[in-house]
Amino acid sequence: MAGLTRRELLAAGTAGSLALALRGLVPRAGSVAGVATAPVPLPVYSTVADLYRAAWRWDRVVRGTHLRANCFGACSFDLFVKDGVVWREEQADVYERPDVDRPDYAPRGCQKGACYSDLMVSPDRVTHPLERVGPRGSGRWRRISWEQALTRLADAILDAIEAGGPETVIFDNGTSNVDDGPDSLGEMRLFSLLGATLLDGFGGTGDLAMGAFQTWGTSFVDGSSDDWMRSDTLIFWHCNPVSTRIPDFHFATEARYRGAEVITVAPDYSPTATHASLWVNPLPASDAALALGLARSIIERGAVDEAYVREQTDLPFLVRDDTGRFLRQSDLVPGGRDDVFYVWDLAGDRISEAPGTRGSEDSSVELGDLHPALVGRFEVAAAAGPLAVRPMMERLRERLGDYTSDRVAEITGVSAALQERLAARLAGSRRTLIYASWGSNKQYHADLLQRSLILLSALRGQQGRSGSGVRFAAWLPLEGGNTLLPGTGLSWLQRQVLRFYTPPPRVIEDAIAAASQQVMTWTPSHLFLHAHAGIDEIQDSDARDAALPRPAREYLREALDRGWMKVRPAADRPPRVFVASGVNPLRRWPLPQVVEAELWPKLELITVIDFRMSTTALKADLVLPAAGYYEKQGIKYVVALSPYVIVGDRAVEPLGEARGEWKIMSLLAEHIQQRARERGVAGPAASLLDQFSDGGRWGTDSEAAILDHILRESAATRGVGWEEARRAGAIRLRSVGAWGTTSGVGSETEPGGTFSPSRLHVEGRRPWPTLTGRQQFYLDHPWFEEGDEVLPRWKPLPGAGGAHPILLSGGHTRWSIHAIWRAHTGLLRLQRGGPIVWMSAADARERGIRDGERVRIWNDHGEFEIAAKVASGLAAGQALVYHAWEPYQFPGWRGNMEVVSSPYKPLHFAGDYGHLRYRMFCAGPVHVPRGVPVQIERLSRPLEAAGAGPVGDPSVLARRSYELESSSSGSSANSKIGGDSPVR
Ligand code: SF4
Repeated sequence: MAGLTRRELLAAGTAGSLALALRGLVPRAGSVAGVATAPVPLPVYSTVADLYRAAWRWDRVVRGTHLRANCFGACSFDLFVKDGVVWREEQADVYERPDVDRPDYAPRGCQKGACYSDLMVSPDRVTHPLERVGPRGSGRWRRISWEQALTRLADAILDAIEAGGPETVIFDNGTSNVDDGPDSLGEMRLFSLLGATLLDGFGGTGDLAMGAFQTWGTSFVDGSSDDWMRSDTLIFWHCNPVSTRIPDFHFATEARYRGAEVITVAPDYSPTATHASLWVNPLPASDAALALGLARSIIERGAVDEAYVREQTDLPFLVRDDTGRFLRQSDLVPGGRDDVFYVWDLAGDRISEAPGTRGSEDSSVELGDLHPALVGRFEVAAAAGPLAVRPMMERLRERLGDYTSDRVAEITGVSAALQERLAARLAGSRRTLIYASWGSNKQYHADLLQRSLILLSALRGQQGRSGSGVRFAAWLPLEGGNTLLPGTGLSWLQRQVLRFYTPPPRVIEDAIAAASQQVMTWTPSHLFLHAHAGIDEIQDSDARDAALPRPAREYLREALDRGWMKVRPAADRPPRVFVASGVNPLRRWPLPQVVEAELWPKLELITVIDFRMSTTALKADLVLPAAGYYEKQGIKYVVALSPYVIVGDRAVEPLGEARGEWKIMSLLAEHIQQRARERGVAGPAASLLDQFSDGGRWGTDSEAAILDHILRESAATRGVGWEEARRAGAIRLRSVGAWGTTSGVGSETEPGGTFSPSRLHVEGRRPWPTLTGRQQFYLDHPWFEEGDEVLPRWKPLPGAGGAHPILLSGGHTRWSIHAIWRAHTGLLRLQRGGPIVWMSAADARERGIRDGERVRIWNDHGEFEIAAKVASGLAAGQALVYHAWEPYQFPGWRGNMEVVSSPYKPLHFAGDYGHLRYRMFCAGPVHVPRGVPVQIERLSRPLEAAGAGPVGDPSVLARRSYELESSSSGSSANSKIGGDSPVR
């Protein structure tokens, strides 16, 4: 090996020999087709012990993490680097040891993170800029230089700006490629400065907890996972944290040791159900009825926390008998306000204005001497004469009266006895915590479920108390990064003021909602697809909520006409350039076969920035290689579950010609500016680099300076700089931080160390950012009246996809973060090796399907083929395909989204009603991939004939590999990407 550095050795394609020798004791010659190999002497080992020792020597250890993987883990890892290669990683013990009565956060990690050093050099790693030379999706590429790639992209962007305006340039980073460091900031900065359309991927991935938003005015509500320890009853409702919150689930186990009862509510006997002391299995999409039945029982048992309900909810607010609407000031006085509301004060036996509502002069919900009635009928003198009014609680009682034990049993399949057992537990539990997570968002009527869960919790006075309440997800802000985001509209002086003054949540929410409409260029990705990707027609002919009197399209048109929603670019301006960074829309979007047929031809250039060859990349025009997680510096986004900011240092240089996203954006800004000036294109493009770099302050290599800036300017990490952070790997939060774009936590850490959300409202009595200033269960918006959803209720799914007997659902998988690890051979060996559908034994028997056989799944929209896993944990009529198989892993590349039309729910467009409005990342149309009616039938063809092999079978890899023509950049040509990938 004399004269060869380790990296040179890898580049020569011979590292695989050594790596395999080390790992498997099987030396092999460099054998990848098309790669020139040089004879390299193998190391001399005398015994197996030598191999073992060699494997446990390293040059250095670097603190890293999985920077842009969209997991809720945030785990620090020690990366062991030898000869310029990360050979392995280990969970780093960088967490504090709190009190003896509370478990700590060490260790944190999961099996995906523990094999990222392998994934980063896997066969589908992209290492050089690639340009398509055959038709889209043909798999024929040539390697080009960065200069060629960036010039082509810059010119395409300028062409689009000239032809249709900057909004015809579309940028999508979904939610699976976001961090708190320079990379995400750089992408959002560049495309915002350009005036491009940024797709709001929260709704597009089904991550909008609309019911939480409708009730609380925010959906970003969560606490730390060690706070689970403080609950008496811990309910995992519609989520599966054993698979999806791997680093945190131990807190549930430890809570159980402390005496908490752990309950799972899920249709299937999920991995989490196996750890519960009670598994309640309502039929799919029926559980809002269960929650409402439990709420009825809580009231009938006299277990309502009335003091809490009077102050913290809209249940005492007076509602007119004649119109069914809240009594408003405008009813009482000519010219009165529509956002001032009333209660009946039992202390004074008179009507009284409720404090803290949107139109109130009080900035607190504190009742003082008021004692609002929860029952009764009263008469008030209105401008037009006397009006009969009742507290809203009375109407709630009437509605809940519909959810008797028998009716709930009929809807949910949960017996009356089991309902009673659960209700008794909730009525007696001081601290009940319902963890619902994002899994509860992904069905058509998910908002009704969430409203029902929050109601159940509020009746017991739980939200805002330690170890209690309902939680979904929240990110903790590193507001130091905001200064790099255009569109915040804040001057230096305003930012300084905000360091010492925290505006109330309602003011912040109003500002974000206004910016979402007027300043930012985000558009809900679902609306974008309806306007430009051909799924609009399907929506109208497909799903229809029977309770709505008008077709969905009419609600959308009205929302657009009234300015409640906006779609960019407008329907008559076709999108021209699409840039996706790290995301995989042809895997995620509904009906990808329709999107590909309708949208793809409109796009003059499709560019994917990624470190791996996804299905979308395979069907793009230009692929730009992004640096892997261990090849750059950054900050993992900060989740409420873990009170640490986790950072990742660069362990090795980017593989091949890969680059970090900040660098790519900086260079792209330079190319756009240069080409704009050469072509005489005016506007932001002509000064893009000047703006992007802030007059030269942030250069192409400024990542470390930006990281330092973010950390020093953020309350959570104040006083810590990048140098200190990168050595430590983790910084204990100094502050939970302010309310903001993705945080509605509204709490600080408690003296005991954990934190629970919403204490700002409950202990601090600050109004919730809703119209009524309360947890608002009554939405008397005209559209909600039309849909009979003024109060929470249960509704059946609209049946998008046709009348078919099996409801197909899913869940996030344990084995991948979205599609990132889906093709990792090592992890696939721990599963069935490829896509599978879990189906019940009864359904399988009825169709003559045996375990492992291939089946065809179809409905009115499409079909796909997959292997069956016959599972006893599912009831008849249910089927599950866990999340994020790549379409290329299915025969004909037809993935499981081909049956998912994901209709929008028209009520989600409602506006002109306090907090009901479009708000980026928080409210809007939601992707609903679960609960899809399908039919399943046995395929008679054997596995091989169906075109899919088991994982590890070369045929699988061959279908996702791609061929390179001679490189225009002069590099040696490879016939397979694996030929240039160093295999360990
Ligand atoms: Fe933790 Fe996410 Fe990495 Fe897994 S992938 S170890 S959950 S940071």
